[in-house]
Amino acid sequence: MAKPKTNWIREERRKVLGDWAAFCVRCGAVRRWFEELEHEVPAACTQCGGEMRRRCPACTAPFSSAFAVECEECDAPLRPNELFGSPIHKT
Ligand SMILES: [Zn+2]
Ligand SMILES: [Zn+2]
Repeated sequence: MAKPKTNWIREERRKVLGDWAAFCVRCGAVRRWFEELEHEVPAACTQCGGEMRRRCPACTAPFSSAFAVECEECDAPLRPNELFGSPIHKT
């Protein structure tokens, strides 16, 4: 059984790749964004036109993992679990 990713890994990746992640809820395309450049994140996916989700729909918290399935702040679901054919589990 895989161990949960530790926070420091997430912090390290955030520094290198950008503060936050956004993903297309339809095709799973991912892009990263920085707080000050949020306006550059497209609302719709450039590949399929699906919704690019960059914040929790429930509490508007941004998320740092492109593969997050639940909000880090409020645990609201961020995406359909079966997007990649098999359920994604956080733990
Ligand atoms: Zn897409
Ligand atoms: Zn939330």
